[in-house]
Amino acid sequence: LTLASATLTRSSQAQAVAGAPAADPEGLVLPGALYGAGRANAAGWDVSCPAHLAPLTQAVAQAVVPAVALATPATVDATMARLHQGFDAWDDRPLAERAAVLRRAADLLEARTPAYCGLLVKEAHKTLGDCVAEVREAIDFCRYYASQAEERLGEVVLPGPTGERNTLRCTGRGVFVCISPWNFPLAIFAGQVVAALVTGNTVAAKPAEQTPAVAAAFVALLHEAGVPADALALLHGPGETVGAALVADPRTAGVCFTGSTAVAKHIQRALAAQDGAIVPLIAETGGLNAMVVDSTALPEQVVDAVVQSAFRSAGQRCSALRLLCLHEAVADAILHMLAGAMAELRLGDPAELRTDVGPVIDAEAHAGIRAQLARLEREARPIASTPLPAELAARWPTLVAPAAFELARVDQLQAEIFGPVLHVVRWGPGQARQGGAADAGALVRQINALGYGLTFGVQTRIDSRAQALARQARVGNVYVNRNMIGAVVGVQPFGGEGLSGTGPKAGGPHYLYRFCAERTVTVNT
Ligand code: GLU
Repeated sequence: LTLASATLTRSSQAQAVAGAPAADPEGLVLPGALYGAGRANAAGWDVSCPAHLAPLTQAVAQAVVPAVALATPATVDATMARLHQGFDAWDDRPLAERAAVLRRAADLLEARTPAYCGLLVKEAHKTLGDCVAEVREAIDFCRYYASQAEERLGEVVLPGPTGERNTLRCTGRGVFVCISPWNFPLAIFAGQVVAALVTGNTVAAKPAEQTPAVAAAFVALLHEAGVPADALALLHGPGETVGAALVADPRTAGVCFTGSTAVAKHIQRALAAQDGAIVPLIAETGGLNAMVVDSTALPEQVVDAVVQSAFRSAGQRCSALRLLCLHEAVADAILHMLAGAMAELRLGDPAELRTDVGPVIDAEAHAGIRAQLARLEREARPIASTPLPAELAARWPTLVAPAAFELARVDQLQAEIFGPVLHVVRWGPGQARQGGAADAGALVRQINALGYGLTFGVQTRIDSRAQALARQARVGNVYVNRNMIGAVVGVQPFGGEGLSGTGPKAGGPHYLYRFCAERTVTVNT
């Protein structure tokens, strides 16, 4: 088992889509194709096919990450003034026009997939398979939100008494501030920005400091697709200064943020402290995501799902599996298989197709994860890890070898470690004495008590148990008998609750409403 082989199968079934170089031999109807230009059954970029791989590899070799200029307080002020002024004209454009701009952007992005993959590998160190999937997701966001806007945001006539006409319509709110993370520097950035734009807002976008170039390339593409200069601006710089100035600006009408829980709370407090309007926050943050495995689960399927969910993207997904909960009757057998699978994972150069786990984002993240690992080595039982040869570590100093540790109880799980680190607990009647959960219901109560609510996995062959646990878990996304990452736009709307976010589901049918103001007009005829 390797991450790459499993990933390829999945990506060709679930994420590949229209506009790519060759027809899918199996003629699969692919989810993303639902939002394509009516070209279902076309294939995506399949990195296992040499004809597809060559242009991607070439683009990675040629990619250059340009430097960007940082915003100053004066540029923030001037930009907000410009976007504030640009709002009425953009909001007045017919919905169909704004949707058409998003579709043009999708087409341009699709045509430039290799170049964007090159930037993603070079700037964010993402593996090639992850890059292809990420460009795909950004394209899907553009097409999906274009269709959703047209389908849902038009004026509706409501019933009323004779002599009265009532209508309801959605408008933009004003200047939306979009603050996005480095782990999906294209897909999440694009998803936030195009959702805000298509609903009629003008947008001040502040991408993560670590990944400004991918964001800059996508903003240039949006302008090329027809977004006016006064409707979208990019502001680079640290969250503490540029992000804070945007959030504090009285012209800010809404904030869309993906990042840490601590920063989301900080933004919420800053918005509340403003004297002006009550400004809504859409926040998607982290998770202490658990997978519950009972004694009927299929061990091979469990191990495959765990490896993908915990270690793909070097664990740098907010959806990633952090806590594996194994029934005591099967725990030893599954841990044995998991250790074998982890030993096989290939670490190294993200540009190489054979690589399962590439480096983490930067030296600061590496140091933080290493410190957490040192703590776990003292406080928990190390179970398994992937070997990291010294010469590989020397060549890629920010590689973190996947590692798994056993805890005695769920409540020993501390803050989210944003890397390839898995915690394991056992559950079942024999665990109750040391504070463990005797049954699955008690286990999910302990997991819920952690306060996060993003993703949750169940592995069981008892359907009624899967249903019961899916109902009980206070989370945004439940995955049964599969991995728990890689939500597909329009197929698995994504977003969490509690410490994991304010709830809106990116890539879901209700998302765009969160960016809108609604206006009811009653006319006495
Ligand atoms: N949507 C991604 C997934 O389902 C995770 C996004 C994130 O890490 O913020 O894996």
